[in-house]
Amino acid sequence: MARRNSFSTWPEAPSSEAAALTCALCEREVPELVQHHLIPIIAGKRKGIKPQDLPTVGLCPACQQYLHSTFSINELATRLNTLEALQADEQVQKFVKWVRKQPATKGVRAKGRE
Ligand SMILES: [Zn+2]
Repeated sequence: MARRNSFSTWPEAPSSEAAALTCALCEREVPELVQHHLIPIIAGKRKGIKPQDLPTVGLCPACQQYLHSTFSINELATRLNTLEALQADEQVQKFVKWVRKQPATKGVRAKGRE
């Protein structure tokens, strides 16, 4: 009973997967990233840098919120103005460790007093 294998059906076209977006800080895949200005816009203005010329990284909303609720504009502009500096910061590392355990789909409230 040799049934000739007719051409098997073509593999289905890959379903349009939502492109996974990865947070540069906590490396979670999240549905949406926000552009975090490594040098805050206000600080950029003081130096005469246009907002669109400021370096940005894609962060999940939780990380972005955390940075802004934890550090002052000044700290962000001077001490934490690169991704490397943020990753090396002890406080940030603690947050990242915590946030990685949180579901990426659920809105995470960064701990902040305000
Ligand atoms: Zn993140």
